[in-house]
Amino acid sequence: MPLILDGIRIRDQIQAELKPRVERLAREARPPGLAVILVGNNPASEIYVRNKVKACEALGIRSEKFTPSESISTDELLDLVRALNAREEIDGILIQLPLPPQVDTRRVLEAVDPEKDVDGFHPLNLGRLVSGRPGLRPCTPAGILELLRRYEIPVAGRHAVVVGRSDIVGKPVALLLMHAHATVTICHSRTSNLAEVCRRADLLVAAVGRRAMLTADYLKPGAVVVDVGINRISERSEAEAIFRGDPEKLAEFDRKGSLLVGDVHPLDVVRCASAYTPVPGGVGPLTIAMLMVNTVQAAEQRLGLCSVSG
Ligand code: NDP
Repeated sequence: MPLILDGIRIRDQIQAELKPRVERLAREARPPGLAVILVGNNPASEIYVRNKVKACEALGIRSEKFTPSESISTDELLDLVRALNAREEIDGILIQLPLPPQVDTRRVLEAVDPEKDVDGFHPLNLGRLVSGRPGLRPCTPAGILELLRRYEIPVAGRHAVVVGRSDIVGKPVALLLMHAHATVTICHSRTSNLAEVCRRADLLVAAVGRRAMLTADYLKPGAVVVDVGINRISERSEAEAIFRGDPEKLAEFDRKGSLLVGDVHPLDVVRCASAYTPVPGGVGPLTIAMLMVNTVQAAEQRLGLCSVSG
């Protein structure tokens, strides 16, 4: 049986290690402060923000939520970001994406003070990432590297194939893997012979957003597979096809009315991989844990209380 890379266990470890750092900040200066901006009423964004606020509460990080209406203009949002940049007790500013179409997302993200950019999306932090200098890293990619490190999965010298080239996941995870001395291939929708390229991967990272797309044909026997995709299946026929009639999974579908699957086929990965991240419970939990890490790191840096591990 392959090793299951358990994101919930690693998230709990990371958060337990953060607690004393938060307590020290509270004791010697003040608790870290995170501002979360949630525009409009996107139900998925509301759930993500609720979970982020809950994670802050559990750790003693002070969070403030701002909920401007769906009709906000770019200038109004820029004013809010600038006001938060100026507030001393706010260490991190998170703008939940996507923003409504009338808002210039790039301008808003670029307005965030780079030292408060806990999502790691500001061009200055992206430049630091490219050149391998210290800085705030995008949370999901940083979480993937942390998971591999804590499970002592070797990266240096291995061939890593990343499927997906988004600014949020694919590109930054490829850069982090390269800095960790992997030989990295980045694939996308125009890649020829995708299955053949993926089959050469010792470490396969899937960040595509297509349910169970990477089947056994894409997997080298014994590969380590990191599945970033989170895709909801709400058609029973699709659940039957993907889970090949597995009665337990179909019973779960009938109970919940839907199932989550990643970008890698959930049965084939168990058959082929030496280690893999399950969906759910793999990469997902690490994203929020790394947001907490970035917030604490930003606070320590701003307050001049850097910890050894920070
Ligand atoms: P994007 O849609 O921004 O990017 C998807 C990438 O996949 C693109 O680079 C695209 O290529 C590529 N792609 C699409 N179709 C194919 C194909 N048929 N063959 C090869 N490549 C293809 O998605 P994100 O990076 O934001 O997210 C990817 C997945 O990860 C989603 O399921 C998302 O829900 C999940 N996610 C999970 C997180 C977590 O915390 N676990 C956090 C963030 C995302 P091209 O550039 O050519 O269009």
